Amino acid sequence: MALEMNIVDRDVTATTEAGARSQTAFAPGDVIANFVGGAEVVPAEGRVLPVTNPATGKRVRDVVLSDADDVDAAVAAARSAQREWAATSLAGRAAVMYDVRDALRRHLDDLAAVVVEENGKTFEDARGEIKRGLESIEYACGLPTNLQGGYSAEVARGVDVHSTREPIGVVGCITPFNFPVMVPLWMLANALACGNAAIVKPSEKDPGPTVMLARILTNAGVPAGVLNVVNGEAAAVNALLAHPGVAGVSFVGSTPIARHVYENGTATGKRVQALGGAKNHMVVTEAADLDAAARAAVGAAYGAGGERCMAVSVLVAVGDEVADGLVGRIRTLADGVSVGPGNEAGVDFGPLITLEHRDRVASYLDAGTEAGAEIVVDGRSHPLYTRDGYFIGPSLVDRVRPEMSVYTDEIFGPVLAVVRVRTLDEAIGLVNDNPYGNGAAIFTRDGREAREFQTSTNIGMIGVNVPIPVPVGWFSFGGWKASLFGDSHMYGDDGVRFFTRQRVVTSRWA
Ligand code: NAD
Repeated sequence: MALEMNIVDRDVTATTEAGARSQTAFAPGDVIANFVGGAEVVPAEGRVLPVTNPATGKRVRDVVLSDADDVDAAVAAARSAQREWAATSLAGRAAVMYDVRDALRRHLDDLAAVVVEENGKTFEDARGEIKRGLESIEYACGLPTNLQGGYSAEVARGVDVHSTREPIGVVGCITPFNFPVMVPLWMLANALACGNAAIVKPSEKDPGPTVMLARILTNAGVPAGVLNVVNGEAAAVNALLAHPGVAGVSFVGSTPIARHVYENGTATGKRVQALGGAKNHMVVTEAADLDAAARAAVGAAYGAGGERCMAVSVLVAVGDEVADGLVGRIRTLADGVSVGPGNEAGVDFGPLITLEHRDRVASYLDAGTEAGAEIVVDGRSHPLYTRDGYFIGPSLVDRVRPEMSVYTDEIFGPVLAVVRVRTLDEAIGLVNDNPYGNGAAIFTRDGREAREFQTSTNIGMIGVNVPIPVPVGWFSFGGWKASLFGDSHMYGDDGVRFFTRQRVVTSRWA
């Protein structure tokens, strides 16, 4: 069963050295501290939150909670390190990025193991997210080219003009639980390569992998203070948004918090890019290969338990024949999806992040039934649903209508809603009326339909016979509408623009 999200299947082999684990990984019972100025720091307040293994429901370690004073200390460390880092030559910073790439490859499996333990996704999925994060680091290795400015000689007699791109200073990076390595790397690759210092505030639900990342990057040569991690919840985020020493904030998470971050960050004069939630549609027309479309839908809807901002959560079938064909196939394929602990071989997806979230996901099945939808596959009947751990099997809900909560809400779980429409125009209208605009895909063998879809939908990332169209690392990632606040996308050339400001020099040597 292919539940993979990597478009380019790269062969990255971990080469962890003997003993490397003890330097960077966490052991059960550790307390995850902040990482400030190159050292692990426990806040004076001493408040902690348990970090749970979603596969067992048991606490594996604690994470410290930071307040405004802890954020202030991190900003001070970042500010004092940033100037020298920005003054390091382009070749020098590029060399560090190459070393970071090598170190991440060495620690790939090590890091993936902690992702599985705290997030619950499968080992292969954890490796997959690290590999996608590596694409951003590889892009950043080209920083001497990425930061090249323009030059015009002789714009007037004896007058030349050139432009440079310069770091913005100290940046805050606030990240969600579902990609505790990839999303920080999306941000950090360009933030650091462009000469900024960063403070990451990871999700309090699975902070270990992000702190491990800071250890790995610092061991690989990122100078102390250039990369800091402050753990905590809303108080830490709000302190970053209010701090006058923070020049920019990059955020990924749910739409309500993205809006909050955008409004409050820009209110204090920061530049902000805030990526939010999603409801991604996959449209299948009569011209599609239904077997391929059904397989793709299963991988894209249920992979990582649907906890991906690019997961397909709505299957739009054009015509009842297509709908019946897809529902029958997906019902059969869903039977073969293996749910279990992420560290077990052969498992397709693991538990959801918390019990509260798992129960919220399950509640949409009742809501759907009450509203008149048809539950074709019920994830609550999975044997692990009633055991320890936050498991639920794949669910398929047919005859969903746009006013039902199973359609309107971002469920963020392994629930696929099928909406039946009569025409491609109706499908495009549905996609365009949805408030979210992250990703959308069309499955068809008709080029005219594909072209119509990609030019008529108000969506940031489109897949044509590709269900999860996450752009490769040298393009940029970002949705439209309520899926992104701000005007720049994440990583690639938009990332370089976000983490730099332009200076233009006009000189006369007449
Ligand atoms: P979340 O919005 O709950 O949390 C994101 C970050 O914001 C975390 O660091 C969290 O501690 C912080 N936060 C939470 N509540 C806050 C508050 N009241 N004030 C200030 N900060 C707060 O998101 P999540 O549950 O961790 O992640 C899942 C969400 O992220 C989904 O909606 C998913 O679609 C979205 N997501 C989007 C993308 C994208 O690229 N668009 C990528 C991954 C995840």
